[in-house]
Amino acid sequence: MSDREIRMLKGVGPARSAAFARLGITTRRQLLHFYPRDYEDRTKILPLSALENDKVQSFVATVLEPVTVSRVRPGLTLLRTVAGDDRARIRLAFFNQNYVKDLLRPGKTYLFYGKVSRTTYGLEAASPEFTPLSKGEVPEGSIEPIYPLTEGLTRKVVMQAVAQAYALEKDRLQDPLPDTLREELGLMPLAEALWQIHRPESFDLLEKARRRLVFDELFVLALGLLMLKNRRTGQTGAKIYTFPWKEFYAALPFELTGAQKLAIAEAMEDMQSGRLMNRLVQGDVGSGKTMVAAALAYQVARNGRQTALMAPTEILAAQHHQKLAPLFARFGMKAVLLTGRLPAAAKREAREVIEANEADLIIGTHALLSEQVAFPNLGLVICDEQHRFGVAQRAALAAKGSRLDGDTVESSPPHVLVMSATPIPRTLALILYGDLDLSILDERPPGRKDVATYCVGEDMRPRIESFVRKQAALGHQTYIVCPLVDEGDTAELKAATAFAENLQKNVFPDLSVDVLHGKMKSAEKEAVMARFLARETDVLVSTTVVEVGVDNPNATLMIVENAERFGLSQLHQLRGRVGRGDAQSYCILICQSDSETTRQRMDVLCKTNDGFVVAEKDLALRGPGDFFGRRQHGLPGLKLASLAADMAILKEAQTAAENLLDEDPELAQTEHALLASQVAALFDEAKNTLN
Ligand code: ADP
Ligand code: MG
Repeated sequence: MSDREIRMLKGVGPARSAAFARLGITTRRQLLHFYPRDYEDRTKILPLSALENDKVQSFVATVLEPVTVSRVRPGLTLLRTVAGDDRARIRLAFFNQNYVKDLLRPGKTYLFYGKVSRTTYGLEAASPEFTPLSKGEVPEGSIEPIYPLTEGLTRKVVMQAVAQAYALEKDRLQDPLPDTLREELGLMPLAEALWQIHRPESFDLLEKARRRLVFDELFVLALGLLMLKNRRTGQTGAKIYTFPWKEFYAALPFELTGAQKLAIAEAMEDMQSGRLMNRLVQGDVGSGKTMVAAALAYQVARNGRQTALMAPTEILAAQHHQKLAPLFARFGMKAVLLTGRLPAAAKREAREVIEANEADLIIGTHALLSEQVAFPNLGLVICDEQHRFGVAQRAALAAKGSRLDGDTVESSPPHVLVMSATPIPRTLALILYGDLDLSILDERPPGRKDVATYCVGEDMRPRIESFVRKQAALGHQTYIVCPLVDEGDTAELKAATAFAENLQKNVFPDLSVDVLHGKMKSAEKEAVMARFLARETDVLVSTTVVEVGVDNPNATLMIVENAERFGLSQLHQLRGRVGRGDAQSYCILICQSDSETTRQRMDVLCKTNDGFVVAEKDLALRGPGDFFGRRQHGLPGLKLASLAADMAILKEAQTAAENLLDEDPELAQTEHALLASQVAALFDEAKNTLN
């Protein structure tokens, strides 16, 4: 048993160490990095006369009467007393805290902390915390940490354990930042920061401690991403030449937008350069990313190489295949679908085609990476809807590149293109995609109308229902994203099916209602999508599986139930399922709540169709943790850093990382050893949380 495990600390027995373990803490170091989620300001200690109504405050008072105990009813005991200072009095009440009787003694003075009410009968405080003061002692105010606790742990236990762990560790803590760098940036030493974050002496020191620890998180992340990028840009990639476009363009039913052309040109330039491409194409929903992918796959095929296109869901993979296979057939090229849940025979056949080097475009989910397929001649890997692929997946992808490549050809790994539909403010993209070059599709195909968006309450339901009928009468289709249920797969499945059944039976007996949810077998899903695309379905009830990428230009109405519970960016994605054809489209957000914040958030969507604007607002209103979903941002190791609030530190960290790597590209110098191991650990941790 290591002496560094917290169960060796005083006051941490088996039960408490199990509770700590639930929080992911088993060692003293981990405990030191278990940061408070908030703080209580007990720095101001007020005289009773200055206490305000309905606020949590600290005050000093002397107990004036013995504590009385009365049983209000079985199970409820009320303890009361009165305390005062030289000018005023306050009544104190405690519920079921029998020990208070022995602790609060008349004539003694205490520092209290609790919520105070100012009533017509005078001052009152219910169940305040208190600590005794010795005679003449002037109490010091404090900033008390608030920890995200779990059952079996109290703040006191954590504070004591932290204090012990700190005392034992502080002399062994090595600062990963070289002194010169730390001083240059005016950052607090690590040991001091770790103490001040738990027991701040002042708000100023707390801010400095926080700045130091946030810097560390962002710095290590920036280093990791930059190293990933540098390693890849240092690599040579197969040269892909540009063949004449005429045939390709002639086969398209539309002219590419300027933005699409530019993104294609940027990617072709990368692939021609002899260096390995590692590029992100960021484009709002409906900006036409699929065609960018198709164009590049076309050129790669002309160069005699294969492209793997990976979608986040089987539905999307099937949809891409359905669209692109006929297009590629016109060029005498073959696109095959290979997903994990294809029937065994179909899978075998797909594999054979791929391994015989007869497939030009292989479409699947990111399980393509783990399928036991040898790609004889892979030139390009495209990940669609990248926000589902985190940094760790990209690292894995880069590492697997050579394995993907099989062992038949020279070993240069494939070029990588990532496509994202989540518009992200530029500053954020810088860190999120620090390892990628960036192309932006900031233009929608011509003729697209904005989706008219409305936020409504329950009372509008009858009108919404007749609107659905009206769309159906016009030959158009409707999506309804069904009410959110608590997590749990079977619950979700039941809720979606029950909702759809009720809708079919009781609301739209005259229309055809179908349902799509994440727990369906892929064959079922495809059948549902096929019926929907064939316009046999008027109303498609769905969980959020339609969120990404589904393309049915004939659908003109998107209804989202419980819209207030979704993030703005997610709602924007959902809305992006309509407005894909020529007809005017609509998005109706049904909100259960009409709180001010809900209204404010929904207003953003009602007022703009620009994904970048939505993203900026979403970020401002919620902060990036929620913005991406804790897992969706895919950034490992961020406990304290907030990508919205810590933008300035982020920039510092980015610059510092660039400078350091200029000097020591692989962090090989001994004074950078600790940083190197932290970077390595970061990506290890991320790999373990894949999927
Ligand atoms: P996303 O960027 O959301 O993946 P898609 O690639 O699915 O968008 O394209 C959305 C729709 O726009 C598709 O129906 C596609 O065929 C069409 N489209 C793509 N590019 C153009 C263009 N340049 N002009 C007109 N329509 C286009
Ligand atoms: Mg798409």
